[in-house]
Amino acid sequence: MPPAPLPLSNRSLRTTDSPISFFIQKAIETPGIISFAAGLVDAETLPAADVATAVADIMADPAAARAALQYGSTQGLPALREKVLRHVCDADGIAPRDLNLTADDVVLTTGSQQILYILGEVLFDPGDIVITEAPSYFVYHDCLTSHGADVRAVPMDSGGMDLDALDALLARLAETGDLKRVKLIYTVDYFQNPTGLSLTADRRPRLVEIAKKYSTTHRILILEDAAYRELRYDGPDLPSVKRYDPANEFVVYTSTFSKPCSPGLKTGYSILPRDLVTPVCNLKGSHDFGSSNLAQHILNRLMETGAYHRHVETLQRAYRLKRDAMVKALGSEFANWPGVKWTVPGGGLYVWLTFPSYIDTGKDGPLIGRAVDAGVLYVPGQFGHVPDAAGVVPKNEVRLSFGVATPEQILEGVRRLRRACRGLER
Ligand code: PMP
Repeated sequence: MPPAPLPLSNRSLRTTDSPISFFIQKAIETPGIISFAAGLVDAETLPAADVATAVADIMADPAAARAALQYGSTQGLPALREKVLRHVCDADGIAPRDLNLTADDVVLTTGSQQILYILGEVLFDPGDIVITEAPSYFVYHDCLTSHGADVRAVPMDSGGMDLDALDALLARLAETGDLKRVKLIYTVDYFQNPTGLSLTADRRPRLVEIAKKYSTTHRILILEDAAYRELRYDGPDLPSVKRYDPANEFVVYTSTFSKPCSPGLKTGYSILPRDLVTPVCNLKGSHDFGSSNLAQHILNRLMETGAYHRHVETLQRAYRLKRDAMVKALGSEFANWPGVKWTVPGGGLYVWLTFPSYIDTGKDGPLIGRAVDAGVLYVPGQFGHVPDAAGVVPKNEVRLSFGVATPEQILEGVRRLRRACRGLER
């Protein structure tokens, strides 16, 4: 007799393995493949020596060692909360008090992924509306599905989220009486995963204005996911959206040490509207009553000694070369194919490649198998989209990550991708 079925919750039944796990697994099992799939950081650039020094320094001091090896607090190490707040405000050219902020408004989490999930627990009931960019961060979609959120996507152009389209969507939702279900607007506003595009400077204050305008019965919050802000290769930094939230009411700013330092330390940080801190910490308490205290002490030390800032500069140089290699390779391989276009990101880890609409890059289409046979892997762009009102998902896009491969492998991988397309052109 087979056992009776597990009594799984609706949440569990809604939650499946991320579709991109398949591509990451494929990259691991296929020898010689050049993977543009995983958004991993380059293993060659991980700060092993800096971390070794930080750990040795902490362990050599009995008081510091005891503090780091003990449980910490749910909200996170105060010294590190102070430092990340100053770090973000420095980048914005302001002082924390200009935005009415203190370290009490900062929460440290197990990667920024944890705040993405916990905010959902804090804010959404099934059926609540979350507005994202089209396309958006694949794994956040999985998180929203798990929460039973109703996801509406707003188109992007080269300047990031199309704010006229956002305004129009919110106006329609107001008309149909659905505004009460709108909880959050999610933007990956620096070198977006997956497109590499950033929200332009002039759209940043306007985004806050739009959220305010429709916050009639409750606040519609903005989740500003700045995970890639520090991986910037050209041009000046852009002010955060948070910068335009002077009373700290509308914007949750979240970022991570995973991309600019080490994903293994799995530490993220968020600046939250003050009245959101307690609900977030209460739920985080149920998850883990605090993220790795040792990781927080290590990062605190790396920031204190300047090692962190030096490391970010090294990364910027290394990834700039890879970005250049990918853009150059795409230019040589795809320029003579009309209708093919790609983004040229000023930072981050991703290029978004768009084929003519007759090319199906999807997981069941012809290109993916040919690409694997040619020895290159990408992530189908379809995973970044939710179906539009007509149920349609674009299937002619791919995300190419240039984080892991060397510049030489990037050139070869793009050549292989072009080869995989032979015979599919019209
Ligand atoms: N946001 C974005 C846009 C990401 O790409 C990622 C990682 N791929 C995360 C958040 C979460 O990363 P972590 O939990 O390691 O901070």
